[in-house]
Amino acid sequence: MLFSEFALWCEKIEELASRLEMRDLIAELLPGLTAEDLPIFVRFIRGLIFPDWSSAHLGIGPNLLYDAVAYVAGRKRNDVISLVNRTGDAGTAVEFLLKEKTQTSLFAEELTLGDVYATFIRMADTAGSKSQKEKLRNARLLYSNASPLEGRYLTRLMLEELRIGVGEGSVRDAIAVAFSVSPDSVNRAHQVMNDLGEVAKIASIDPDALLNVKIEPFRPVKMMLAQAGSIEEMVAVSGEVCAEYKYDGSRFQFHSSGGRIAIYSRRLEDLTAALPDIADQLKEAVSGDVILDGEVVAIENGKPMPFQTVLRRIRRKHDVSAHVDQIRMVPFVFDILYRDGVGLIDLSLSERRIHLESVMSGYIAPQIKSENPDELREFYHAALQEGHEGIMLKVPGSPYIPGNRGKHWVKCKPEVETIDLAVIGGEWGEGRRAHHFGSFLLACQDDQGTLHPVSRVATGINDEMLGILYDLFKDRVISTTGKEVVFEPGIIFEVGYSEIQKSQNYASGYALRFPRFIRIRDDKRMDEIEMLAQIQERYLRSGHPQDSGMQQEKEQ
Ligand code: ATP
Repeated sequence: MLFSEFALWCEKIEELASRLEMRDLIAELLPGLTAEDLPIFVRFIRGLIFPDWSSAHLGIGPNLLYDAVAYVAGRKRNDVISLVNRTGDAGTAVEFLLKEKTQTSLFAEELTLGDVYATFIRMADTAGSKSQKEKLRNARLLYSNASPLEGRYLTRLMLEELRIGVGEGSVRDAIAVAFSVSPDSVNRAHQVMNDLGEVAKIASIDPDALLNVKIEPFRPVKMMLAQAGSIEEMVAVSGEVCAEYKYDGSRFQFHSSGGRIAIYSRRLEDLTAALPDIADQLKEAVSGDVILDGEVVAIENGKPMPFQTVLRRIRRKHDVSAHVDQIRMVPFVFDILYRDGVGLIDLSLSERRIHLESVMSGYIAPQIKSENPDELREFYHAALQEGHEGIMLKVPGSPYIPGNRGKHWVKCKPEVETIDLAVIGGEWGEGRRAHHFGSFLLACQDDQGTLHPVSRVATGINDEMLGILYDLFKDRVISTTGKEVVFEPGIIFEVGYSEIQKSQNYASGYALRFPRFIRIRDDKRMDEIEMLAQIQERYLRSGHPQDSGMQQEKEQ
């Protein structure tokens, strides 16, 4: 497929209002694609470049793209930036600049979907000191061969924000319709393979093969998640339950096969190099080929410490101080998904536990089984006493469903209202906070992935964190108006609050009262931030009447 055709389809989809129309249009297109183009198209149409399981990243920010387009369009970088500020969308700005371009490229070649993907792979693969130069060269190459409309979607793809409203659900349904397979088998194959592109390819070649796809080492699957709940409810519904401590660390998936090992984060980034001690401990403890699921806890002077801080320190290679040596990283493994060529996710938790106990001895998270609420409550108090977050209750007969947040896993922890939101803007600080961003604008998402502002946060950020946040956000500035800056979304904050109230100040219609920064959630992906509907639920749950009008705001 030519990239120009892809761009035209994107433009068409962008104009569609309903999800159903999008699904039908995509379903019509899929069978006409070649086996090579199909996976690329399926990812691109969702604004993704690489499979969900892959930790590959283009690794470019908006500034590099502005430089590239300025060069190709014969403009100054500042012209590009002011146009982006005026249009509010880098894609539209690039489209305009390519239209206005005075010289046409002499040797322009028509881009295909495959060419664009191959260039993206080259960009992601470049590393080292010359990598930014190399990425810039590739971005220029793409722009010099692109029509204005192609420029719009190339830009948005490279910024990983296609903005045409196609979600995972629409693409899953489109694959089912296009190749006459049940949505359930597409869904299950997606959970196991973690790449809708490959799922579409298999469905196009042999739909029956979807039922036989297997979990594989070094293709991490999404982690199974938990709902909030109580011991009483869980025992009433399930009878006997398995209970484990809820460790306050960072989730990991450990893969080991044929002598190779890898550790992935909850966002499925490859953390093997950052966690050599965990890799060594597990390698030593495990026999055979496995995929394990667990939580890493950082312990300093015998006490668990905030894991994000440790992780950030480790990631900055030059900043590893002697201090880090005092921190011991301990893995607690609570599940096994694969053993010696066989996927185990369809087995029950109890059966998986037997496998887990037979592949390793140490590092397994202790588990009790009980249907007695008193015994479970005692376990809960012991967990808190030892400095853990609470307990996890799990249904013994339940399979492992990648990415699922259902009733099979329930977390019990003391009530503190916190919420995970995307940072979309900020304000330059004053006084002590001068030359730093002093406050941050936060947003939730709707089911199309559109972001809606819901609060600002400035409290709870100490001086060290101010510096960390400045480093993190300085290259994400898309535009500046006075003190206000707009950030390229991608960073998530967990914030605490006392109450949710209705508000005309934010486009979401809600605001947080007394928002307080807790931490950066760099273990979460953008599609995991709070949904607008969940904010509405929180609002109603806290006793506000459904139809209450705009209240007097108490927000500070
Ligand atoms: P929270 O903010 O409460 O940690 P979350 O959104 O990160 O929630 P949840 O699904 O609510 O994730 O809680 C599950 C998380 O708890 C897991 O992702 C994992 O990191 C952690 N965890 C700690 N101990 C366990 C355990 N024994 N079993 C499963 N998950 C555990």
